[in-house]
Amino acid sequence: MECPTCHNTESSLVGSKNGHKLHRCANCSLLHVHPMPAADELLRYYQDYHKTPQYTRKLKSKQRRAKKRIWSLKRLTKGSKFLDVGCNAGFAVEAARSLGLEACGIDLDEASIKFARQQYPMGDFRKISAQDLAASAERFDIIYCCEVIEHLAEPHSFVDALYTLLNENGVLFLTTPDIAHFSVQQNLLEWTAVRPPEHLLYFSKPALTALLEAHHFRKINFRPNLKPTIKLLARKDAAAV
Ligand SMILES: [Zn+2]
Repeated sequence: MECPTCHNTESSLVGSKNGHKLHRCANCSLLHVHPMPAADELLRYYQDYHKTPQYTRKLKSKQRRAKKRIWSLKRLTKGSKFLDVGCNAGFAVEAARSLGLEACGIDLDEASIKFARQQYPMGDFRKISAQDLAASAERFDIIYCCEVIEHLAEPHSFVDALYTLLNENGVLFLTTPDIAHFSVQQNLLEWTAVRPPEHLLYFSKPALTALLEAHHFRKINFRPNLKPTIKLLARKDAAAV
């Protein structure tokens, strides 16, 4: 079996949850589901995704929290083009818009896009993948990607697209559960963030750094967090632009 991020073939079985086996890569420490669920299983799962409670719960407080984050991101770049990758119910796009940014949200889930458009009629919401958007000429100054990368079976084309979508002086803000956080090292499999097939890839800071650097992201800066979530900022490699 090959690690989905570093392609190393040595790994150890950590255990099983929800009928899925979880392996840890001996090289980059990524915890990943193997074998990955079939495409039709994932499709079935995500058809009902908008019915899950984490989807719409506390929309107002999510919007407030996103606004605080985006306000601090806005100070790190001069441009005003904001992209939320995996925009879900659209609250971060609305928060960015209220801060005067030109905000767009993308999601693969039809129901999410429909819900976001109903909830925030002024927002620009599109059902498109990051990879397909990267194939267009549109570029962004702030890319916001919260709790998305752990859902992917294959992260490389996705991270590559994030890099392409970012303007030269732009900033990427990304979050994902932190499997190496002190609060979850014991009983890792019992942790609520470990929930295959919804989450397929589980990162530590070194594993995520290796993945981002492989796609030329530089100045990777982790925000301290008492909660088990990796929060990072990354920029483009000026020399590679
Ligand atoms: Zn690996």
